[in-house]
Amino acid sequence: MKTDLKSMPLSQMTLFFSQMGEPKFRAKQVYTWLHRGVTDFSQMSDLPQSLRQKLDEICFISAPKIARKQVSQKDGTVKYLWELGDGNCVESVLMQYHHGNTICISSEVGCPMGCKFCASTLGGLVRRLTPAEMLDQVLFAQLDSGKEISNIVLMGIGEPLDNFDNVMTFLELVNSPEGLNIGMRHISLSTCGIVPKILALAEKKLQLTLSVSLHSPEDTSRSAIMPVNKTYPVDMLLDACREYVKITGRRVSFEYTMIDGVSDSPAQAELLAKKLKGICAHVNMIPLNTVAESGLKTSKKEAIAKFQSILEEHGIPATIRRTLGSDIDASCGQLRRNYQKQKEEG
Ligand code: SAH
Repeated sequence: MKTDLKSMPLSQMTLFFSQMGEPKFRAKQVYTWLHRGVTDFSQMSDLPQSLRQKLDEICFISAPKIARKQVSQKDGTVKYLWELGDGNCVESVLMQYHHGNTICISSEVGCPMGCKFCASTLGGLVRRLTPAEMLDQVLFAQLDSGKEISNIVLMGIGEPLDNFDNVMTFLELVNSPEGLNIGMRHISLSTCGIVPKILALAEKKLQLTLSVSLHSPEDTSRSAIMPVNKTYPVDMLLDACREYVKITGRRVSFEYTMIDGVSDSPAQAELLAKKLKGICAHVNMIPLNTVAESGLKTSKKEAIAKFQSILEEHGIPATIRRTLGSDIDASCGQLRRNYQKQKEEG
């Protein structure tokens, strides 16, 4: 088994090189090359030839191939389907906002969480991504598009808190001054609500934004669409969010998918407002992106407007997510799913 050099934080790489009997500064040289997207040791021109050869023998440099790329004609959103070293695929979406270019990246191949409305979880979890495979999505989207990426959201395929250690290492990599140097305040992490991991994340005291996929304020309907709710019900989850705010001093934002007849009644808006009172929160309302297999429908426009106005009457800031890339397979996990289907059909 070759060593995955790109998944190493600089401190670990320094140790790795010193164990090889190499001077410390070699680690920084190699780290810098890797974080610029160099894919071959032979390109590392400031290393002695013998070291390049030795590294090539014992290490590998992860680098995904672009399996598909779709560019929205409407808004310039770019969706990448990456083929990883083992042939598995994940997606990222590069979006242009007025505050800069944001990439939405995947943290796992597939997802174990089983949310009923989500295309990413239909085939379950295949495997977790390495730190380098998460970094590569940012690195190679930036190189391919020529656009500097300033913001990252961990909202693609997978549950980031189910891949906790690798996600923490990825954050360290992408945040490092010798690497892409993307500030924690420019990073959001979205979770379906794994309570012990939310508390573990709080203890890291990072300046990132935590988004919680709530989608319903009460247990019956939340458990029906999100199996995780059977283990960590709504009130337990909201207590963890309060604790998160207390420990980190950062605001939590809530994602709320508007699903016709499931999550969009005025009574649910009232209950949501009541339960979020006192949590320093913002609600991001997402009109459901229809996934054929789920049988669920997106809410009617009037229901969405009514829901938002109830939240605002109670002083809960709520925005309706702008749909970007609606002309390309925009919804999370759909491009991978369609690609798999096409491959199966030959
Ligand atoms: N596993 C994490 C992050 C990935 S999903 C989480 O659950 O938060 C990113 C967001 O997209 C989540 O809020 C998720 O619930 C939402 N989502 C998934 N499928 C969707 C769909 N078909 N329509 C609208 N939102 C969806």
